Amino acid sequence: MAHVIDGNAIAEHLRHTIEEELKVLRLSEVRPGLATVLVGEDFAAQAYERHVRRLCEALEYRYVSEGLPADVQLADVAATIGKLNADPRITGILVLHPLPSHIPEAEINSAIDPLKDIEAVHPQNTGLLAQGRPRFLPSTPASCYYLLDSYVRSTGQDPATFYSGKTIVVVGRSNSVGKPAQWLGLQRDATVVACHSRTHAAGKLAEFTCLADILIVAAGVRALVTGDMVRDGVIAVDVGIHPVEDPATGKTRMVGDLDFESVAARAEAITPVPGGVGPITDVWLVGNALMAAAMAQRVEPRFGIFR
Ligand code: NAP
Repeated sequence: MAHVIDGNAIAEHLRHTIEEELKVLRLSEVRPGLATVLVGEDFAAQAYERHVRRLCEALEYRYVSEGLPADVQLADVAATIGKLNADPRITGILVLHPLPSHIPEAEINSAIDPLKDIEAVHPQNTGLLAQGRPRFLPSTPASCYYLLDSYVRSTGQDPATFYSGKTIVVVGRSNSVGKPAQWLGLQRDATVVACHSRTHAAGKLAEFTCLADILIVAAGVRALVTGDMVRDGVIAVDVGIHPVEDPATGKTRMVGDLDFESVAARAEAITPVPGGVGPITDVWLVGNALMAAAMAQRVEPRFGIFR
């Protein structure tokens, strides 16, 4: 049975690292401030906002939450972002997803001040990331690698060399998760294979997932990857989150894009859902807001993990 990577413990360690860094940076007048913009009332977005808020409160960040109705006009969302861009007390801005269909994501991404763009969605930051010189690392793909690095270290290996020549297969090519996960793999000198819905439609998904030394699945399809689609000894990272009702208890629980039992039976290591990638992402985001605050003060943080 695979080693189950404990995302909660890794997230806690990361949170502690941020706390320690914050103590030092406060001496240089670095004051992080994070703002979220929530359009509409999506359940998952509201839950994520609450997580971020709690973390910010615990770390004594300045925190602002802007809520806009689902039928808001683009100009009003842009004006809200503009106000946060101009506020020197806000160092990081997160626009929560999903956005209503009449609000074009690309325009919203471009409206965020690139220096406050802690999810690296502005084209300038996406470009820097794709070129291998990121300003910010987007939280979900960064969390995948932070978690992998932590596992690699626990096996006595060095993450600086571990990925070189390994095959990383990423299932999913979204701008927020799949593509950055591919770029981060390339930056680690891995051979990266990108799969997506057309790979699946062509009946070729298993052909590629079977090649993976490291498999990152971010497709948003419950139990898409099963044990017969991976090779023995794979390290499998599950980004997907799906609420399902347990027929026995009637309670809702979360599952991922991996068929956990069958993949775990063949894997060297695997991330669970919940308790894998998810808990690290909001901590990472808050770390990025601290990085942004340090950059605004032209102070170099001691830690390099957020780049
Ligand atoms: P997304 O924007 O919907 O992108 C999904 C990607 O998966 C697309 O590239 C799509 O291909 C591909 N795909 C869809 N069906 C597929 C199939 N049958 N076979 C292979 N590829 C397929 O989703 P996302 O925002 O990247 O999120 C992916 C999942 O991660 C979701 O379940 C989401 O809830 C979860 N998530 C979790 C976290 C976390 O913190 N753990 C954070 C963000 C997202 P095409 O490009 O061809 O359409």
